[in-house]
Amino acid sequence: MSSKTYSIAAIPADGIGPEVIAAGITALNALADTLQTFKLEFTNYDWSSDTYKQTGKYIPDGGLDALKKHDAILFGAVGAPDVPDHVSLWGLRLAICQPFQQYANVRPTKIFRGTESPLRRCSTGDLDWVIVRENSEGEYAGQGGRSHRGKPWEIATETAIFSRHGVERIMRFAFETARKRPRKLLTVVTKSNAQRNGMVLWDEVAKDVSLEFPDVTVDKMLVDAMTARMVLKPETLDTIVASNLHADILSDLAAALAGSIGIAPTSNLDPTRENPSMFEPIHGSAFDITGLGVANPVATFWTAAEMLAWLGEEDASKQLLECVEKVCEQGVLTQDLGGKATTQQVTDAVVAEIRKLS
Ligand code: ATP
Ligand code: MG
Repeated sequence: MSSKTYSIAAIPADGIGPEVIAAGITALNALADTLQTFKLEFTNYDWSSDTYKQTGKYIPDGGLDALKKHDAILFGAVGAPDVPDHVSLWGLRLAICQPFQQYANVRPTKIFRGTESPLRRCSTGDLDWVIVRENSEGEYAGQGGRSHRGKPWEIATETAIFSRHGVERIMRFAFETARKRPRKLLTVVTKSNAQRNGMVLWDEVAKDVSLEFPDVTVDKMLVDAMTARMVLKPETLDTIVASNLHADILSDLAAALAGSIGIAPTSNLDPTRENPSMFEPIHGSAFDITGLGVANPVATFWTAAEMLAWLGEEDASKQLLECVEKVCEQGVLTQDLGGKATTQQVTDAVVAEIRKLS
């Protein structure tokens, strides 16, 4: 059997990032070793808030060129207590997402067997969503400015940029995502009653693009009403598309409704495949638990599974996720899911399940 080799850049970065990325690499290596259907080569990039504090840069000169040579990027988390959040976010994460045109941010959520949702009546299968977030423009375009700094009449503007090109490509990606799922249902979330320029463009583009996908059912929601629907009628949703800001908020809510921010993955995709895509757990650097060995590695395992699927290793992806779900079912859970297991114990249990695949 021919066995493809994938070159993966690992950027563990800050806080619990190195702990969960180490766990992810352990699981991926065990999977590759057990299945023997593909090979992985990891290159570690030691870029973090510590290097920023020492050198003034998150990414050294030539760093992006080096990254570009890989098939995918596995990212931990960025953010440190003594670096302003907008500096770390723009310095590392967005400094990769933007030049690599990773315009589609995909965030699946579901309730794993053996875990509990804070929604009492909800269990496995009632909540199974994919949120598609516009990841290149919108409210996080970084446009705007401040005048009269510090004066009582200071003004700050934060301009959201929506281009027809940008909205069309994410809308098409979302329809394609919805089409691949059994329910073929796409909920388009906007706030076009109050945001009457960009969000009205979103509505118009959604209508135009929907004509190309007659087999996909389209459903429209305002973002405020959407938060209520996610809590009250989660089973009525499947694929969801929204702008950068709106989907950012909805996906944190989604992760919490599924039980913990410690299980949810994110893919930053360049659907043209011209650049490597980047895969990361949804959670941040979590300095409150850094070094304690209790970080939940499940988000990174699921992230690893999403990465494999993007690389074309769909069977391996499904098998990895199934191993993780089995471990949850066995009750090997970290504290965020109500258990007592350490990062290492969960990782060992997942590796033991992977070994059974041989
Ligand atoms: P950022 O600004 O990078 O998003 P944050 O501190 O706002 O960071 P997180 O780092 O995601 O947000 O942490 C939010 C809470 O969730 C913290 O209490 C943290 O301990 C917890 N948490 C985050 N990730 C995990 C994980 N993998 N396992 C267990 N708990 C986690
Ligand atoms: Mg946060």
